[in-house]
Amino acid sequence: ADHDDTKFEAVSGKRVAVVGAGVSGLAAAYKLKSKGLNVTVFEADGRAGGKLRSAMHNGLIWDQGANTMTEAEPEVGTLLDDLGLRDKKQFPISQKKRYIVRNGVPVMIPTNPIALVTSSVLSTQSKFEILLEPFLWKKHALSSKVSDASALESVSGFFQRHFGQEVVDYLIDPFVGGTSAADPDSLSMKYSFPDLWNIEKSFGSIIVGAVKTKFAAKEGKSGKSRSSPGTKKGSRGSFSFKGGMQILPDMLCKGLSHDELNLDSKVLSLSYDSGSRHESWSLGCVAHSETQRRNLHYDAVIMTAPLCNVKEMEVMKGGQPFQLNFLPEIKYMPLSVIITTFTKEKVKRPLEGFGVVIPSKEQKHGFRTLGTLFSSMMFPDRCPSDLHLYTTFIGGSRNQELAKASTDELKQVVTSDLQRLLGVEGEPEFVNHYYWRKAFPLYDSSYDTVMEAVDKMEKDLPGFFYAGNHRGGLSVGKSIASGCKAADLVISYLESCSNDKKPED
Ligand code: FAD
Repeated sequence: ADHDDTKFEAVSGKRVAVVGAGVSGLAAAYKLKSKGLNVTVFEADGRAGGKLRSAMHNGLIWDQGANTMTEAEPEVGTLLDDLGLRDKKQFPISQKKRYIVRNGVPVMIPTNPIALVTSSVLSTQSKFEILLEPFLWKKHALSSKVSDASALESVSGFFQRHFGQEVVDYLIDPFVGGTSAADPDSLSMKYSFPDLWNIEKSFGSIIVGAVKTKFAAKEGKSGKSRSSPGTKKGSRGSFSFKGGMQILPDMLCKGLSHDELNLDSKVLSLSYDSGSRHESWSLGCVAHSETQRRNLHYDAVIMTAPLCNVKEMEVMKGGQPFQLNFLPEIKYMPLSVIITTFTKEKVKRPLEGFGVVIPSKEQKHGFRTLGTLFSSMMFPDRCPSDLHLYTTFIGGSRNQELAKASTDELKQVVTSDLQRLLGVEGEPEFVNHYYWRKAFPLYDSSYDTVMEAVDKMEKDLPGFFYAGNHRGGLSVGKSIASGCKAADLVISYLESCSNDKKPED
């Protein structure tokens, strides 16, 4: 602790700019501020939260971006504790009841081996393939390029080798559609499921590796839990907050003063000058409220804006342009989120639980949505008790054009799918539409080149750190962890700078 104290003394008061007030930037800023650094957050939009965005109207509460998060990353638990947000957490009712459409009807996803054997989600052959995976999984053909080949392997290729095509079509396809709006053929296994990718490297079989890893984690936790209350019952699984996901960015913003959080402030340029002894970064941004460009000086920068936005920025190093043309174009998945409410008597076959996802293969039955969350089944306080509120996702790689359709057209699409799935009758009472032109970056087989370019930016630009959902995972939890890691790296960097400068001071 003594060492830590002197370390923070050395960096306290240093000035750090954080670009982007999504959950990753806000988590980074929170951490830096709590360690005594001077932070300034710049956000292009007029609000903070990025892809976390809750709305309210006439007794309805809904989320237009992320709906739930998990606490798998330790950084999330620490943040919730520090913010005092534990008692605002809201766990979905019956969250283990999740459905997949098979032959036009919702079927509950089995959550344990016994349920799998009796479930109608998969054929008998696929069930055998899962149970026998420890013996039957197929290695890549061994070649000298094996590691290169596996780094490029698609999510569908990987799961096909382990569990067969039906598992890809009916479990993996709807899962990745529901969590990243992508399709398993385009996604890179290495970047989309790094844990499973590593499990294969260590254990071969996914089933064996997953069981062993889970067992080891339990052993570790049970040893720890005797002395710490950290592993409370209920800390597992997905959750939201009373009032929606927006509570999280709102609480993070509460700790920032008016000067520390600049909304409507789009960063256009960055400049690094190694000649100056401190505050070697300057940052140009336009604020809608001000006509002139502001130039402000910092010791380090944490960038969390999507890489497509970074590519547009003008970067200078030592007075020369630092070209970002080595940064590849990234593909983004477009998505529309449609909220509907129906009076309860108009829903003839309501389902309890989390929601339903629709495999691509089921489009042959006329479905056009990716899936629907049973929002008010999970969180009954999200609407008056005589209504059901649903959150439906449309578009992604499966249907990029439809994502852009008008609210009226999408309302029809959603009503038609919900009619088949839940027996809704007539029109929804209420409709809200939010269109995300770039909902998710696509972690495709060329993502290696993206990560190499980000590493290069960090290497060539001292004091520049990149965080957020373009790196290390798309989920809210992974974005928070990414922001916290960047904050730690900034602290180490500034500490090393102050050590270097000591003799002259
Ligand atoms: P962002 O939230 O994108 O924040 C980046 C910020 O940078 C934005 O506010 C942007 O305005 C700002 N910015 C851009 N350019 C500039 C500039 N030049 N200057 C200043 N600021 C700039 N995850 C889950 O875990 N669970 C879910 O249920 C879930 N559902 C989702 C549903 C949808 C519809 C979407 C879109 C995402 C969902 N996600 C979910 C993913 C998750 O919400 C995001 O990956 C995560 O919130 C990203 O956080 P971030 O801080 O990395 O980026």
